[in-house]
Amino acid sequence: MKHSNISIFIPHIGCPHMCSFCDQRTISGSQHAPSGEEVREICSKALCESKSPENSEIAFFGGSFTAVPRDYMAELLEAAKPFVGSGKFHGIRISTRPDCIDREILDILKSYGVTSIELGAQSMMNHVLEANERGHTAHDVDQACVLIREYGFELGLQMMMGLYKSMPDDDLETVRRILDIHPDTVRIYPVVILKGTKLAELYEAGIYKTYSFDEMIETVSAALMMFADSGIRVIKCGLHASEFVEKDMTGGFYHPAFRELCESRIYRGKMSEIIAYEQSDTKKLVLAVSSSCISKAAGHKKSNIEYFRQYGIEVEIVGDENIAKYEVQLRR
Ligand code: SF4
Repeated sequence: MKHSNISIFIPHIGCPHMCSFCDQRTISGSQHAPSGEEVREICSKALCESKSPENSEIAFFGGSFTAVPRDYMAELLEAAKPFVGSGKFHGIRISTRPDCIDREILDILKSYGVTSIELGAQSMMNHVLEANERGHTAHDVDQACVLIREYGFELGLQMMMGLYKSMPDDDLETVRRILDIHPDTVRIYPVVILKGTKLAELYEAGIYKTYSFDEMIETVSAALMMFADSGIRVIKCGLHASEFVEKDMTGGFYHPAFRELCESRIYRGKMSEIIAYEQSDTKKLVLAVSSSCISKAAGHKKSNIEYFRQYGIEVEIVGDENIAKYEVQLRR
């Protein structure tokens, strides 16, 4: 059964930072800070409507949850807690900053039934963290992860690619450092430059030059493969389709089907390897992929089929439920 979240957005309140990319209001689409009563109403409605609440978590997203005033944090958790347990939701999920995690906070989260903690690591390169005014170091991420694991929470890490002063090599080094930590889940966000942010200022002044869209697709594709090879679930790749993002972005990498573009690129690479290895005069090839990945292998708007066609090769893609994700086999 598919996992789902009952998402409750907590705005920027309490966060003392102003990271270069952050306009929390734009990302969460709301400035309203929900009260405990509103959380109760949301959870109660979601529980009535849910067919399998045991596969869902109440998720506080949007800001730095453990940096909001302590009374407010307790009010929200107090409201959510009665909806967790047997016949109810599986747990509570929160997202926060690595330097807003300590034993006292983790004790509180545990006592309210929080099950998963996602940290905004963004980068594991200190020069990138500093240039983007994150206010923490890679060491803070490592330390917070050790503590979260010690307490038995599910651990998620979020990373951002293409930040100011980050090149593809820096982003892939961040992926390698995250592999070392081996979180349960990862979210990959290619940078989106929002109006009114520090990044927008640097971008408009020509100081911050992002790498190309194609390089970003290549880099994120490589990251997806690395996480897949290590058995780490990538639960998000690219910002969700939102009118707020499209309206407020001034640069960066947003596409409503961003993950599909990256996964199609993975398949193109795998198919190219097979075609190069064949090195015959064959002009038509039948390639088999996982049954659920036929459209990804064909590419966004059949771009992979067209790509090979320009080299005079007709590719037919067939599905096989015994083939693993991202694997491609030649059929003779
Ligand atoms: S820590 Fe999070 S909420 Fe605070 S400024 Fe940075 S991105 Fe925004």
